[in-house]
Amino acid sequence: MAFNDFLFRKKYYGYKWSIPCEVCGSGELQSEEKKIQEWETFESYANRNSDPENWESEYYEGAFIAELSCDAEGCGNNIAVSGQSIVEITDIEIHDPEDGPQAIESVIYLPRNFSPVFNLIEIPMEIEFPIRKILYKSFELYWLDNDACANKIRQFVESLLDSYRVKKRIRVVKNGTAKYISLPLHKRIEEYTKTRADLGEILMAIKWIGNAGSHHSLGLENQDLVDAYRMLDHFFEEAYFIKTKRKKIKQLTKTILKTKKPVSKSKRKK
Ligand SMILES: [Zn+2]
Repeated sequence: MAFNDFLFRKKYYGYKWSIPCEVCGSGELQSEEKKIQEWETFESYANRNSDPENWESEYYEGAFIAELSCDAEGCGNNIAVSGQSIVEITDIEIHDPEDGPQAIESVIYLPRNFSPVFNLIEIPMEIEFPIRKILYKSFELYWLDNDACANKIRQFVESLLDSYRVKKRIRVVKNGTAKYISLPLHKRIEEYTKTRADLGEILMAIKWIGNAGSHHSLGLENQDLVDAYRMLDHFFEEAYFIKTKRKKIKQLTKTILKTKKPVSKSKRKK
């Protein structure tokens, strides 16, 4: 799966959510009017009633819960989503000059939880499950908390280096006594960079975003997370997927060169 900016959007309109279905790989997850329940929060309702004259639609605060179903025939994949809802006002120009621009109010859904969550990027199967799981957790946090999500991505990088057996500590002898000192992530990435310079740099850049996520006062922007995932996606491509692709092409080339025929023709001869 190629990097898909569309998956990272945090605002949804109406019922056509069009999230690619991971079960069948061909359909898209959509909602329907009857499958979304949306209501105004008690606080918003109370504020509106206490001062109706000064109430503006933009003050509206709601909550929603919805079921998304795959639109491919026979798939049957359903996921749940919940979150906040707000009202957005868009001015649209109409052609009658006497009426001027008209305002359209639409309910916007801001998801905070998908269950089960979908993959924001493809994770190579070669990465062991306990480590992959850390990245799945970051996908859940993406919808909930930017800083926590970045922190989780940083944790994933750390575990990935463990799996590559990049040293975690060094032995230091001081006043005749030997002791082990833990290496910070920065130093460990530098160690890794000695063997894979191009890939090490990507991990280092991701680490800087992760570090910012650990200092909550900074407040990461959504785009920072998209950047981190985009870099991680490229890392996976270079470190894993390209090898698989090369292997497949090598095999295919070898078969065709050997038989001097397209594969379909060789098969038919059997
Ligand atoms: Zn499906």
